Amino acid sequence: MDQALPGWKDKVLFTPGPLTTSRSVKQAMLRDLGSRDFAFIELVRDIRRRLVALGGCRDGAYEAVLMQGSGTFSVEAVFSSTVRPDGKVLVIVNGAYGERMVKILKTLRIDHAPLVFAEDQIPDLEAVERALTDAGRVSCVAVVHCETTTGIINPIKEIGAMAKAAGATFFVDAMSSFGAVPLDLAACSIDYLVSSANKCIEGVPGFGFVLARRDALLQTEGYARSVSLDLLSQWRGLEVNGQFRFTPPTHALLAFHQALLELEAEGGVEGRAARYRANYETLVDGMRALGFDEYLPAVDQGYIITSFRYPQDPAFSFESFYASLNDKGYVIYPGKVSNADCFRIGNIGRIFESDVRDLLRAIRETIDELGIELSAPTRAGARSVSR
Ligand SMILES: *Cc1c(COP(=O)(O)O)cnc(C)c1O
Repeated sequence: MDQALPGWKDKVLFTPGPLTTSRSVKQAMLRDLGSRDFAFIELVRDIRRRLVALGGCRDGAYEAVLMQGSGTFSVEAVFSSTVRPDGKVLVIVNGAYGERMVKILKTLRIDHAPLVFAEDQIPDLEAVERALTDAGRVSCVAVVHCETTTGIINPIKEIGAMAKAAGATFFVDAMSSFGAVPLDLAACSIDYLVSSANKCIEGVPGFGFVLARRDALLQTEGYARSVSLDLLSQWRGLEVNGQFRFTPPTHALLAFHQALLELEAEGGVEGRAARYRANYETLVDGMRALGFDEYLPAVDQGYIITSFRYPQDPAFSFESFYASLNDKGYVIYPGKVSNADCFRIGNIGRIFESDVRDLLRAIRETIDELGIELSAPTRAGARSVSR
């Protein structure tokens, strides 16, 4: 079928990104703008202004720097251009995205100390405190806010206060939470926060962004270990003439601006949080009723994405489960937890409770078709999805 036909419906993405976007976000890309066009420069300026406001930064202390590439490029930009040459990074890890930070630091040959916790565990704050003393001269503390591996939400405010007390800069990867989980950068002592266009703000992929405390950023002169990912130079370029140093993702920026307007129309971060939370609650109620178990205890579980354990039944194969749901028009995501077999279902993107109920119906049909026996001993009895 021709995917450009008006009746075409894309599959619904229950993933950690790229996500389902609104038609109007996609339509915003039907323009060609030159990178020096006044309209484009104004668009970039407005995006940067709105991003700073979304971070709850009202006192002019923070700057938004847009960076080409996927979100990881922006994480790499922060490490490669803000850690001083003799600096050391304490990385708090409880999932694959924390591990990725370690990999970046290793590759950049930046001195670092990983503090690793189990994937189903909130970082122990006393251990963080101890590590800050034991690791010696830590100049930067880095942590993921919503660890998308499991959906766990890490205590960034407490960790930020410790980093600040230790005189270290504080870097938060808020890729999968920014825009949908209320967050005040200054109150969390954040110096650098990273997120990207195609997660909770519901734009299309193509760039990430860094919210940087200006005073911290200005001290990083000469630190950059990369030309294309040089954060300070990128910021200066945007400040001086409103332009990117190298080809900007014009269409992705047009889409993102529209996505920001739609976020505001939905009631900002609070409004989006309410929709995602409703998606999450509908999903988890329905999955429990079907007999699935979540990987995380509910108290630690954010509403962004949920990891579910594979059913015990040996007849279950993720590949067939995934393929059958995919055929029905629903895309879920493989697990990333290292010590348990899980799959993930995201609650983010332009999806609503009705989409989640449709997914639940498709999951029930699929387990019936595949002849999977589901038994959640702790929650036995319930096998019907509420409609
Ligand atoms: C998605 C995600 C990333 C990586 O983003 P890419 O756009 O795939 O590079 C990094 N950290 C977290 C927490 C994420 O959820």
